[in-house]
Amino acid sequence: MGYEDTQLSERAKTAPETLTDGFHLLIDALKLNGIETVYNVPGIPITDLGRYAQAQDMRVISFRHEQHAGYAASVAGFLTKMPGVCMTVSAPGFMNGLTALANATTNCWPMILISGSSEREIVDLAQGDYEEMDQLAMAKPFCKAAYRLTYAQDIGIAVARAIRSAVSGRPGGVYLDIPGAMLGQIMDAEEGQKSLVKVIDPAPRQSPAPDAVARAIDVLKSAERPLIVLGKGAAYDQSDDAIRALVEKSGYPFLPMSMAKGLLPDTHPQCASAARSLVLKDADAVIMVGARINWLLSHGKGKQWGEPGGKRFIQIDVEAEEMDSNVEIAAPLVGHAGACAEALTAAMDGEDIAPPKAWLEQVREKAEGNMAKMASRLKNNNNPMDYHAALGVIKDAITDAPDTILVNEGANTLDLCRSIVNVHKPRHRIDVGTWGVMGIGMGAAIAAAIETGKQVLAVEGDSAFGFCGMEVETICRYNLPVCIVVFNNNGIYRGDGENWGTGDDPATTVFVKDARYDLMMQAFGGDGSTVTSPDELKQAILAAFESGRPTLINAAIDPAAGKESGNIGNLNPSSVVAQARYPQAQS
Ligand code: ADP
Ligand code: MG
Repeated sequence: MGYEDTQLSERAKTAPETLTDGFHLLIDALKLNGIETVYNVPGIPITDLGRYAQAQDMRVISFRHEQHAGYAASVAGFLTKMPGVCMTVSAPGFMNGLTALANATTNCWPMILISGSSEREIVDLAQGDYEEMDQLAMAKPFCKAAYRLTYAQDIGIAVARAIRSAVSGRPGGVYLDIPGAMLGQIMDAEEGQKSLVKVIDPAPRQSPAPDAVARAIDVLKSAERPLIVLGKGAAYDQSDDAIRALVEKSGYPFLPMSMAKGLLPDTHPQCASAARSLVLKDADAVIMVGARINWLLSHGKGKQWGEPGGKRFIQIDVEAEEMDSNVEIAAPLVGHAGACAEALTAAMDGEDIAPPKAWLEQVREKAEGNMAKMASRLKNNNNPMDYHAALGVIKDAITDAPDTILVNEGANTLDLCRSIVNVHKPRHRIDVGTWGVMGIGMGAAIAAAIETGKQVLAVEGDSAFGFCGMEVETICRYNLPVCIVVFNNNGIYRGDGENWGTGDDPATTVFVKDARYDLMMQAFGGDGSTVTSPDELKQAILAAFESGRPTLINAAIDPAAGKESGNIGNLNPSSVVAQARYPQAQS
């Protein structure tokens, strides 16, 4: 302790109100920048930080596992355009949170992971401190930026940098390392206040240059079969009116990626979701809006995309480096989705960019045919219940209550729900994102309920739910309006797998048969029930929406109804040797 610190400690005995500390400066810095909610798991050295934050009227949501607190923070970032904040303990807690931080960065969602860490001088000499780990070095590859705070007087600047790094340009995850001792440092309260920084214009709006817009218009003028693809970057931008104007003024069919569903309603006459294969294959000009041409779009190549070289792309993205990542981009528009959409829409005035009628009719006919086929499948009364019948019920429930936020994860449960259940409002569908991560559901549901106050409906495969199921206690503790429907087919992909060897162990992909997930919710005071028919499912969802209480509906689904890996079975590696060895592998 230096001379000055000794003086301050003396003052603490007589006039503590003239002092502040690292704990309170951190809380003040977050609040000054409009961050009012923190998602955390208490423990050394951040237990008191959570208590003090709550004492200062922040909302502190404590989870049972850091991964889910982190997922919640990242989803809060997606929903609010402000970084979601997650606080974790050192080493193992930090590592649990790191998965969520990496996921946030991959999805381009702003998040700040604040983690306590052990003392620098011991860590750096590898002397074996409590939960020793060089967390700053570990975090760096998994986020946009990583900072360590050594002195309390730097908290203001560090928080400002973290916020700006998370939300400016392409949003992403930021790591803030806080060695425990820093929190206890004291300083003069007035000086402390002066050291805080309010970030001015954290994500300065970026617009495309006029020549870039003119280039895009040239592409559209020669297009015969134009298409717009909307991605979650467009949803994130919250420029919903500008996106709608672009779609409606152009008159082009549009295809929403899963989390862009609802940006315009899925029931919009220009929505081409039900003609997805056709429009991807046959379009000759595609406007990508905040959507990467990554694995989710077969990298813009292959059968799905029709003739190689048969398309020209206009890409709207805030990240210049995204251009040409997989295919040539004829007209890059670098900037925020709303700014680019506005510029492009304005430049359409007086230009001959209207889509040929024949193309629109072809798309509409295909979509209507596919929707009619699907409608009959959704009304079946098969026993046991299949995915389609259960999702038909969910579809109606969301149509009747379009303000509900839909959370969705699983394999078949994800793929089928995405294509069957319409979303009617922007940012009302949250799912597994770019990585296809399993276990995001409860964190996402909690964040959606906390950030929006709306009813949440989480449609979960039984396997996906297993990664995060303990957080039903968190849902009950905060009494959140979350209704979870577990599609229980007794296993991963299917519930009827068999052991291919001679042993007695269950197959690697099956769970306990007819498990009662609903009792987990009851254990913590929520409502739970098991349903086996579409009608029972419907009544149970209505009751949950009516009560707004934590509810888990265990929906028994035919164990034989699912497909291996849902729609992405083709991504499983295969070998001719293995196929020769196991006849069962042929499917
Ligand atoms: P999806 O999975 O829905 O196709 P992606 O996550 O692949 O969406 O793509 C989102 C893209 O949006 C990223 O390339 C990201 O850089 C971009 N992006 C993020 N925020 C914005 C924004 N405000 N405006 C424009 N583009 C954005
Ligand atoms: Mg399952």
